[in-house]
Amino acid sequence: MDPVAVVGLGSMGGRIAGRLLDAGHAVVVWNRSPNRLEPLLARGAMAASTPREAARRGRALITMLADPEALRSVSEGPDGIAAGTHPDLVVIEMSTVGPAAVDALASLLEPNAEVVDAPVLGSIGEAEAGTLTILAGGSAEVVDQARPVLASLGTVVHVGPRGSGAAAKLVANAALLGTLAVVGETLALADTLGLTREASANVLAVTPLAEQARRRLPLIQAGTYPPRFGLSLARKDADLILESAARSAVRLHALQAVREWLAAAENEGRGSDDYTAMLATILRTGERAIDRPGAVRRTTSATTA
Ligand code: NAP
Repeated sequence: MDPVAVVGLGSMGGRIAGRLLDAGHAVVVWNRSPNRLEPLLARGAMAASTPREAARRGRALITMLADPEALRSVSEGPDGIAAGTHPDLVVIEMSTVGPAAVDALASLLEPNAEVVDAPVLGSIGEAEAGTLTILAGGSAEVVDQARPVLASLGTVVHVGPRGSGAAAKLVANAALLGTLAVVGETLALADTLGLTREASANVLAVTPLAEQARRRLPLIQAGTYPPRFGLSLARKDADLILESAARSAVRLHALQAVREWLAAAENEGRGSDDYTAMLATILRTGERAIDRPGAVRRTTSATTA
């Protein structure tokens, strides 16, 4: 099979590279911190010394990086991807960076290479199992060019022209982060009103929050949030959502509040925890409200709703 290059071997990129190796692809890898290469080289991947070399050696090149700044830094300059483009290359941008960063990447690389935006739904488990949902943006021909590689990673949903995949990912994360914040706030409200967790769980189970509450309550109960998707990355996504909205003057008050919760959690030192640790920050605020002198805590004997 034609070589596939992967630039960015963090939690997601490393697993994507591993999955491609398992599917029989020849894989060329590059990462800013070289220590992340070792486990993949041991499995048969080949190291590139720069993003330029990764582009030169690949027929497809996946970028899976933290944010727009990281994408820009591996794309530009004498060692960047742009310097290694060739007419047989399709660059598959899989990070969550928003449509503006995808446009900037395309302006830099085209017409010397094709560009597809293909961010993903799903986390490290899905990346490892090859069951990601991939939101692809680009012409039908270019998405088809990327398809043999993407098929090893999950299910491709062709959303529309270039930039649509990046846009769809922001919409999906707006829904996810917004729902999580409302789960946290409704539970904080329930706490201050004196409901037991069991009563709160039973109430949320018959509301539109049921699915998220069912998944997140055990984490809250255990007080641990196993790291999968970093909280600072989620705050970055909230920034991208608000920046996109600001460009069209649409007002997103609720998502502005979600961004504030994520920033507050980051300020408490939870930036490299899982994004669901935002719940701990929200619930701690509720506890502080209960502890305030003079605060009235309603007592209730009911344990179920
Ligand atoms: P991660 O573990 O933090 O990895 C980030 C990657 O970006 C690393 O390879 C890091 O290199 C690289 N990077 C950061 N800044 C850089 C810079 N200035 N120059 C070059 N490389 C830089 O993040 P992740 O969880 O894999 O997420 C990657 C992307 O996928 C993000 O956009 C995230 O929002 C999105 N995403 C994540 C999940 C998830 O569940 N984790 C799910 C869906 C989408 P170093 O190793 O040198 O730091």
